[in-house]
Amino acid sequence: MVLRPFVSWRLVSRRCGARWAKWAERGPCVGMARSGSDMAEFRKVFSKAKHIVVIAGAGVSAESGVPTFRGAAGYWRKWQAQDLATPEAFFRNPSRVWEYYHYRRELMLTKSPNAAHVALAECETRLSRQGRSLVVISQSIDELHCRAGSQHVLEIHGSLFKTRCISCGDVVVNQKSPICAALEGKGSPDPNAEDANIPVELLPRCEKSTCNGLLRPSVVWFGETLNSDILTQVEKELDICDLCLVVGTSSIVYPAAMFAPQVATRGIPVAEFNLRTTPATGRFRFHFSGRCGTTLPLALERHESEVI
Ligand SMILES: [Zn+2]
Repeated sequence: MVLRPFVSWRLVSRRCGARWAKWAERGPCVGMARSGSDMAEFRKVFSKAKHIVVIAGAGVSAESGVPTFRGAAGYWRKWQAQDLATPEAFFRNPSRVWEYYHYRRELMLTKSPNAAHVALAECETRLSRQGRSLVVISQSIDELHCRAGSQHVLEIHGSLFKTRCISCGDVVVNQKSPICAALEGKGSPDPNAEDANIPVELLPRCEKSTCNGLLRPSVVWFGETLNSDILTQVEKELDICDLCLVVGTSSIVYPAAMFAPQVATRGIPVAEFNLRTTPATGRFRFHFSGRCGTTLPLALERHESEVI
């Protein structure tokens, strides 16, 4: 399968999403089955799958109470993610953007993986003993899949808990709370909160002795390209998968929105688990409406054919 063009794709949504929706509304591809919600039929397919790819989105995190900062209610102060998660916003006001990410990091200390995260992690562990694999391609940056115990996670949009130095490029895991002294107690989401206006030298800095460059969150911002090494791994996983699950994603953020439809065109079964149908639903073999924390544990529980 050819995914190479995605390597240079940038993170986009909204306008392209609307275009995608129009395209998807034209209906399923010729020869493709309409999506169904027969769990027994899905379980048969699941029992035979050797390489399962799970494309997981913000909907899984939302069931743990993690805000997306998008949509009508999704504001931090006066802004939404697309106003702050950009290189331009960071270089214009790194203090404000760091307050926003500090808030999101601290908030995650109060959140836990939910039944959907746990079902995926347990399924991966179980299948690995049988010589089968399950990989999560995550669009979330909150690391809840890893915290639930998933081993094989491709974080295509990066992580809240990694930083990247804008001088030397060094990417490191950083789980400090607070990430730096100057951000302690800052980052209130209240629309009336004042900017902290932290001097740039007091924001998180690179700890390499000769560098001391300004750090930024190691996440993919709007307008930025996705990490090509990770996309190469994604491509490999999509190439070998024989079952694809699309979990808690509205299928409008590119390029992830293209992954499952590409797999479906090869005749690989795709099952969508989401609160409601999406623009891509008609292209998939299965659709299960409802909370992922309810539907996924049932879908992925031990099958009677599993002997280990
Ligand atoms: Zn550095």
